[in-house]
Amino acid sequence: MAESSADFVIVGGGVTGASTAWWLAGMAPGARIVVIEKDPSYARAATALSVASVRQQFSNPVNVEISRFGVDFIRHFADRIGPEGGVASLGLRENGYLFLAGTESGAALMEELAAMQRGLGAATEVLDRAALARRFPWMQLDDVVAGSLGARDEGWFDNMGLLGGFRAAGRARGVTWIADRVTGLGREGTRVTSVTTASGHSISAGAVLCAAGTGATEICRMAGIALPVEPRKRTVFVVDAPNARHPEAPLIIDHSGIYLRPEHGQWITATVPDNDGPCSENDWEPDHALFEDAIWPRLYARAEGFDAVKVTRLWVGHYDYNTLDQNAVLGRWPGYENYFVATGFSGHGLQQSPAVGRGLAELMTSGRYLSLDLGPLGAERIIEGRPFLEKAIV
Ligand SMILES: Cc1cc2nc3c(=O)[nH]c(=O)nc-3n(C[C@H](O)[C@H](O)[C@H](O)COP(=O)(O)OP(=O)(O)OC[C@H]3O[C@@H](n4cnc5c(N)ncnc54)[C@H](O)[C@@H]3O)c2cc1C
Repeated sequence: MAESSADFVIVGGGVTGASTAWWLAGMAPGARIVVIEKDPSYARAATALSVASVRQQFSNPVNVEISRFGVDFIRHFADRIGPEGGVASLGLRENGYLFLAGTESGAALMEELAAMQRGLGAATEVLDRAALARRFPWMQLDDVVAGSLGARDEGWFDNMGLLGGFRAAGRARGVTWIADRVTGLGREGTRVTSVTTASGHSISAGAVLCAAGTGATEICRMAGIALPVEPRKRTVFVVDAPNARHPEAPLIIDHSGIYLRPEHGQWITATVPDNDGPCSENDWEPDHALFEDAIWPRLYARAEGFDAVKVTRLWVGHYDYNTLDQNAVLGRWPGYENYFVATGFSGHGLQQSPAVGRGLAELMTSGRYLSLDLGPLGAERIIEGRPFLEKAIV
């Protein structure tokens, strides 16, 4: 068996692992940092299958603060990571997010959340139906009471550029990437001492971060930890609607249960299936009927021009879905000296990766969060079964 050692071993080289490795290499110069990724093509990683959007409209202040940092980092990505990242721009398009409310109580909650978000520096404003109609004259709003819009700091960007930049800039800082599958963890008392791989490599580890997306549940099981994180299938449709050309449209979170946004002259749209639940990690079959049955009627009802539509592309991605509270699970696992987790992002982990990587690197090098306290997303709540619910889940 090949053997080696590292100060930090990261399991999973999606955007979370790649970001953390880059931050670690900056905070601990000279440390031996290894990222183990089983599939460098990323064919099934959530990072690659994401719809790559960033928003400030969350119900938990910590998620707002994570995205405050995230959007700034994304906007200035090339400067932040330097020329070694090889990315000139992530092409952030700030069309905004528009959440629609169909009830007075939904509108009242929007006002409350918008005030909290503005207090943290976001630009969320709540528009009544008349104001929405002036701003988006092509929308059908009879069933809408109000909408909350983030006119800046919200939109979409290049997901693979973000991942590729972190990888390249991390390598330039000395991070080692290994293409292999983690199959085992060695333990001694309260320490995870080694990581073994399918090819028979054993790496003794100073600290281990599990950033394996939906695969994190299996990795944590190897450490004797039960995570409430399961794969949930999401089918994403790209639709050509020649009569609906609204390139300035925001990402619309419709209270009917669908979302849509412009994409290079077409539209990206998706919904949560009625029978949502865990799926097999091998289930990559698109839910074709969802478009005809659930999405198209709602698109047609919401905006002009969705009378003629053609699905030009579709794909399946798996959320790493935290069944307790749909929020990330981050940090050192209680009872372990050197074992850390970062998973359960439930559909919003791409935009969180800059702040999450920074926070985990701080925790792993200094023993605490230095810039933004990610403690509310810690594992203690999982162990105690105490949800930290995020209401704004897409
Ligand atoms: C359809 C869809 C739409 C989304 N839209 C958005 C959005 O608009 N905005 C947003 O912020 N987020 C969005 N997300 C969520 C976001 O993509 C994820 O939260 C984020 O990419 C998670 O990154 P990660 O690195 O933690 O996980 P992943 O990208 O899944 O990476 C985990 C990696 O671990 C590797 N791995 C697993 N097991 C092992 C093992 N045993 N050994 C070695 N490697 C292993 C995998 O191969 C994988 O590459 C969306 C997700 C989906 C599926």
